[in-house]
Amino acid sequence: MGGTFDPIHHGHLVAASEAAALLDLDEVVFVPTGKPTFKQHQSVSAAEHRYLMTVIATASNPRFTVSRVDIDRPGLTYTVDTLRDLRDARPDADLYFISGADAIEQILTWKDAPQLWEMAHFVAVTRPGHQLTVDGLPTDGVTTLEVPALAISSSDCRRRAQAGQPVWYLVPDGVVQYIAKHGLYRGLDE
Ligand code: ATP
Ligand code: MG
Repeated sequence: MGGTFDPIHHGHLVAASEAAALLDLDEVVFVPTGKPTFKQHQSVSAAEHRYLMTVIATASNPRFTVSRVDIDRPGLTYTVDTLRDLRDARPDADLYFISGADAIEQILTWKDAPQLWEMAHFVAVTRPGHQLTVDGLPTDGVTTLEVPALAISSSDCRRRAQAGQPVWYLVPDGVVQYIAKHGLYRGLDE
C-alpha cells in the first residue's frame, strides 16, 4: 500500500485491512513515498517522521510491515520503481498495489504506465465521495474495493494538529503522541 502517510490514519489502516481480508493477502507492505511526484508544490514532513509513524501504526498487526524502498531511493518516487524493488525483494510474490481510487485515477499519467499492469494487480479503495471514473483502464488489472465510510484524510489531521484540535481516534494513539512529541504540523502554512 503506497501513500504519503503524513500522517498515517485509520482510513489507511481500515483500507489495508479490508483489502487483505477480501483478497486473501498474506501481508500488506506499507510503502511511504520518498518525494511524492504529485505533491511537489506542498511541503511534506521528513521521510523519517512519516516512516516512523507508519511503523508505530502498523506494529501491532503481524500481517502489516513497512518498507523503506521509496524513502531510501534518491529522487522522485515512481510506482514502477517501487514495484521493481518489491519484486526484487520478494521474487515469488504475487503483488497487489493498493491505493485510493483518487490515486489510481491518475495511473495513466504515471511513469511507464503500460508496464505497471504486468508487475502488479491494482486495487483502488474508494473513500467517501470518490468513485473510480477513468476510461482506458484495463478492467482485469484494477479491482475496486469499497471500504467502510471513513471520512478521514491526512490533510484534515494536519489542519487539526496545527489548530490545536484533537486528532485522537483519527490516527492510532502512538501516532497522536508522536505528532505531539515532535511538534509536527505546528508551523504548517498550506
Ligand atoms: P492527503 O489528505 O494529504 O492527500 P491522504 O489522507 O489522501 O492524504 P495519502 O497518504 O495521500 O493520505 O493516502 C494514500 C492513499 O490512501 C491515497 O491513495 C488515498 O486515496 C487513500 N486513502 C486516504 N484516506 C483514505 C480513507 N479514509 N479511506 C480510503 N482510502 C484512503
Ligand atoms: Mg491524498
